[in-house]
Amino acid sequence: MRIIRRILIAGGGPVGLLCAWLIGRHGLPVRLLFDNNNGPQPDPRAATTHPATLDLLAEDGLADDMARVGLVAPIFQFWDRPSAELVAQFDHAVLRNDTRHPFVVQCEQFKTAKLILERLRKCPSVEILFDHEVCDVAQTADAVSVQVRGPSGLVSHAGAYLVGADGGRSTVRRRSGIAFEGFTWPERFIVLTTPYDFETGRGYCYRSYFADPGAWCNCFKVSADGPPGLWRTVYPTDPAQSEDAIMSDAGVQARIQSFFPSAAPYEIVHRNLYVTHQRVAETFHKGRVLLAGDAAHVNNPIGGMGLNGGIQDAANLSDKLIRVLSDAAPERLLDLYDLQRRTVAIEFVQEQSIANKKRLEARDPQARARNLDDLRRTAADPERARQFLLRTSMIASQRRAEAVTLAEEYVRSFPRKRESS
Ligand SMILES: Cc1cc2nc3c(=O)[nH]c(=O)nc-3n(C[C@H](O)[C@H](O)[C@H](O)COP(=O)(O)OP(=O)(O)OC[C@H]3O[C@@H](n4cnc5c(N)ncnc54)[C@H](O)[C@@H]3O)c2cc1C
Repeated sequence: MRIIRRILIAGGGPVGLLCAWLIGRHGLPVRLLFDNNNGPQPDPRAATTHPATLDLLAEDGLADDMARVGLVAPIFQFWDRPSAELVAQFDHAVLRNDTRHPFVVQCEQFKTAKLILERLRKCPSVEILFDHEVCDVAQTADAVSVQVRGPSGLVSHAGAYLVGADGGRSTVRRRSGIAFEGFTWPERFIVLTTPYDFETGRGYCYRSYFADPGAWCNCFKVSADGPPGLWRTVYPTDPAQSEDAIMSDAGVQARIQSFFPSAAPYEIVHRNLYVTHQRVAETFHKGRVLLAGDAAHVNNPIGGMGLNGGIQDAANLSDKLIRVLSDAAPERLLDLYDLQRRTVAIEFVQEQSIANKKRLEARDPQARARNLDDLRRTAADPERARQFLLRTSMIASQRRAEAVTLAEEYVRSFPRKRESS
């Protein structure tokens, strides 16, 4: 029987593209990468790229290219909106011995995707098919196949493994019968993008978080089409308010003015509304199907961890798939991918992103005072600040993932196996 060695990838967002590049540049065949769009989409989602992720992307100059087309942001701030007090300021410089990149790079995700795509176009072992939608998945012990709808109709493609990097509503995950466990926040999150310069106008740095009882705001700068750049502000919305009211001119002005009062109306160049979830797939590895990025885990955007986690998945998974397909490691290594990345998705990204939201929206005056005081004291103590930044910059989660071994899986699965026997 002919052994199929090629890898199929569903989804050409930054995570799928990165998997294709990391695998393809080793000369292994990623014959088909399918995406149902016609190329990277410029929607205002991820921008914040953390030190741990930049370290992974340093090879071949990708991290440098992201800094070139984005903005370097070494500092972030926490503000208390009602008192207008700058509560705490953190400088990634305290991580200088922990990372080669003691700063964040604000690079819009479509720019990251385009930078990877440029590299992929020079990779002869990778075939990219935009305008192709994965509709179904089937697998046997030896191979996996996908049904793909493209301009010439429905076609079946077979491979050794399928990476589902097709986003939060992943068809690969659904058609593989993998549950997406967690919950959906009742409030939607709105992103309002403005050219108003919050740095010169109000003294905010490129990443600023605002606490407000029952509400919050993230305000950060992106380079957009070049200087002077744009500022994105993100807020929760009232679940009882209609989408029309939220998105109306009056609605968006009222929202931005409530946080940043100004005599003149703000110019709003984009307004986007997102339903937000906290979910993790029950497994990232089912037979010949592997999940990565939003297909595997989703979280609220406070702290900018979703895509960072997805890029870390892509690096971890690609390395293991290369070893398995080169016969340098047994297939069982893929279980370690699930164990390492699922562990940190739950222990770090879910936990941290939920804690970030709760800290900013706390209503109880005593809890608010405690939170703000804790931030003040953390920022004032260099070693506490370093420990805090190790978590927020996702270095701690990378270290945790690397420390997870298969022996740990045996220990953990033992009681489960005993229960089911
Ligand atoms: C407002 C907001 C701000 C955010 N900010 C940050 C941040 O600063 N930092 C951060 O790390 N994260 C952030 N995130 C999260 C980040 O946007 C996601 O984690 C990231 O997009 C995940 O990348 P991905 O490649 O896994 O999925 P996606 O970017 O969703 O890409 C999936 C791709 O698969 C394609 N696709 C879907 N279904 C199919 C199919 N059936 N067949 C073929 N193709 C298919 C889609 O068209 C898409 O191109 C933010 C999210 C939001 C909403």
